[in-house]
Amino acid sequence: MTDFQATKALFHLPDGVIYLDGNSLGPLPKAAQARVAACVQDEWGQMLITGWNKAGWMDQPRRLGDRIGALIGAPAGSVVLGDTLSIKVYQALASALQMRPGRKVILSDTGNFPSDLYMAEGLIAGLDQDHRLVTVAPDQVAAHLSDEVAVLMLTEVDYRTGRKHDMAALIRAAHAVGALVIWDLAHSAGALPMDVLAAQADFAVGCTYKYLNSGPGGPAFIYVAPDLADQVRPALSGWLGHAAPFAFDPDYRPGAGIERMRVGTPPVLQMAALEAALDVWESVDMQDLRDRSIELSELFIAEVTRRCPQLTLASPTDPQQRGSQVSFRFADGYAVMQALIARGVIGDFRAPDILRFGITPLYIGADDIQRAAEILEDVMTNRLWDTPAYKIRSAVT
Ligand SMILES: *Cc1c(COP(=O)(O)O)cnc(C)c1O
Repeated sequence: MTDFQATKALFHLPDGVIYLDGNSLGPLPKAAQARVAACVQDEWGQMLITGWNKAGWMDQPRRLGDRIGALIGAPAGSVVLGDTLSIKVYQALASALQMRPGRKVILSDTGNFPSDLYMAEGLIAGLDQDHRLVTVAPDQVAAHLSDEVAVLMLTEVDYRTGRKHDMAALIRAAHAVGALVIWDLAHSAGALPMDVLAAQADFAVGCTYKYLNSGPGGPAFIYVAPDLADQVRPALSGWLGHAAPFAFDPDYRPGAGIERMRVGTPPVLQMAALEAALDVWESVDMQDLRDRSIELSELFIAEVTRRCPQLTLASPTDPQQRGSQVSFRFADGYAVMQALIARGVIGDFRAPDILRFGITPLYIGADDIQRAAEILEDVMTNRLWDTPAYKIRSAVT
């Protein structure tokens, strides 16, 4: 059994804060603070440029990729880190489209994260080959698969509502019509047990600063199925994805397998933080985490539903159809969230009316959930949100 008291002690959580936003930015693992300081002082500070070899900076994207792979069911050598998630979406999509010449449709759903859709639009415009982005309601995806679809591109867990797609079933359906599948695991990696290899995902991408706790600006990851990795032509053909970067060959030749999905210089300080953050997972069983997440989510839903009749549950009631977040709708949701944050309960708000709460068992327990529900009840019952200061929108909501 995973000891969640022990994992909680591995994080720095400010006094008086109940942190229900680990789905957006994970908190600071205590070891990351020391690891980053050591990387700055002992590696950058002392080794200077020799750190690329001596401290293994150049191999970090692959080494840490393997550790993330272990959390998502990807075999060693099939995941690499770098860039941001939006860029990895673009790369995966461009590579997939090239593998399905003649097919013109990118199929996605209306709940997908806008950046994923924007990247698709930008790629389509740049290619100028009459591709079309088709977005349908999440429950209509399977019905819209056809032999026109080149790529099915979905985010497994909806960032607003927490609704979870049936990944394995949709992959089977997409493959049955000859389409490739790209999964965005932004809200899955570090939140749910999963097996991208067994499910036969063609590509998977995700970020590390949410449930994997690598810190603001942490690098993204990309998985390419081992049987495709040597076939994909990488869009964004940067020098570190070249077969021999230090040959400084004027012509591009893709590196072996997943190496070709690298682009440029890795973010070494962020990698150091990620390395320490990944140590936390050594003592965690993913199924234990999932069970605990469901238990805490059910408790939160029951408590909030009972205490706050003004709010409407936006997440599926069936825990098997949810990721690891719980969302409620309320017209003045933004002000409610500001009132909560002022009282130490940190979640976030997504337009137009979603109050979002990340349920992260690594550092959140039943007492936190109970207390957060009580504070939310106070805010709602006494209309503590209804004050001008809480209605001024910041740049990040
Ligand atoms: C968080 C998130 C992103 C963010 O992309 P970045 O390039 O890292 O800013 C993209 N897609 C989804 C589905 C997300 O949840």
